[in-house]
Amino acid sequence: MSAPKVSFEFFPPKTPDMEQKLWDSVRRLEPLRPDYVSVTYGAGGSTRERTHDIVRKMASETSLKPAGHITCVAATKPEIDQVLRDYWDAGVKRIVALRGDPTAGIGTKYAPHPGGYAYANDLIAGARGIADFDISVGCYPEVHPDASSLKGEVENLKRKFDAGATRAITQFFFTPDVYFRFLDEAHAAGIDQPIVPGIMLQSNFKGLKRMADLCGTAIPPRIAELYDGLDNDAETRDLVTAHIAAELCNQLAEQGVDHFHFYTMNRAGLSLSTCRLLGIKPEVQQ
Ligand code: FAD
Repeated sequence: MSAPKVSFEFFPPKTPDMEQKLWDSVRRLEPLRPDYVSVTYGAGGSTRERTHDIVRKMASETSLKPAGHITCVAATKPEIDQVLRDYWDAGVKRIVALRGDPTAGIGTKYAPHPGGYAYANDLIAGARGIADFDISVGCYPEVHPDASSLKGEVENLKRKFDAGATRAITQFFFTPDVYFRFLDEAHAAGIDQPIVPGIMLQSNFKGLKRMADLCGTAIPPRIAELYDGLDNDAETRDLVTAHIAAELCNQLAEQGVDHFHFYTMNRAGLSLSTCRLLGIKPEVQQ
């Protein structure tokens, strides 16, 4: 079995110290030759400039193919279109197109900006009209909190592919069956584009639980048990996290999955160890 493809997701840091850590991580992960890397966009559009600066710097100063996350929140169509044109001109040919989390935070009610793109499918259609972007979108095997059902979730994903999306990346999950059930529903709805599993590398269990509760991801008791008693032992938590991620990826790979998208939390070590457990080694410079 050949080594799978990987992509890495980063977030824009808030302080110079965290920024240094981000670039150290980017440089350490670069020799793994990821398919692409992506940079998130803060809730309510709060990191707009920082996201764009990091994505453009990745495009000009590294060998990586960066994708900028863009959301519909708190911006007009002309503002978003300008960002897309600037990306294209700067050599950024990939985006992750999202509705975005509401300005007041995850879990609050979403209202489209009056002059903006309302939902991800509108944004995708807008981006397609500007340039031939590679467009990733989000999807939710355990169903987005705003969706009525799994069927509604898949219909929404189909709308995004019909609007021109290239691939979908899933919200993080821990059970292979959750992913394969979603894949079956998507195939039955006529979706044949790639649906890449998003693999979480958050080793702070309290933070992980908070995120999972907000987005509706179930944490199996076995996983919670593995972190039990490790609140003050970050080193062991890291080892457990890499083991859990690699185990999930290997179970998915056994059934044919050949691309994994890692939520890196801007830390290289967990991605490097998980990739090594999947047989992916850094390319050695001659
Ligand atoms: P959409 O696909 O637009 O759909 C969300 C819901 O809106 C649907 O379930 C449906 O109920 C409703 N809906 C959709 N289209 C229509 C329509 N045409 N008419 C009526 N109702 C409709 N958030 C950020 O803020 N920044 C990020 O960088 C970011 N990155 C992410 C990366 C990934 C891989 C994932 C999975 C999520 C990410 N998110 C990010 C979170 C995402 O923005 C939220 O989950 C958001 O609530 C939904 O975004 P979406 O693009 O999936 O929404």
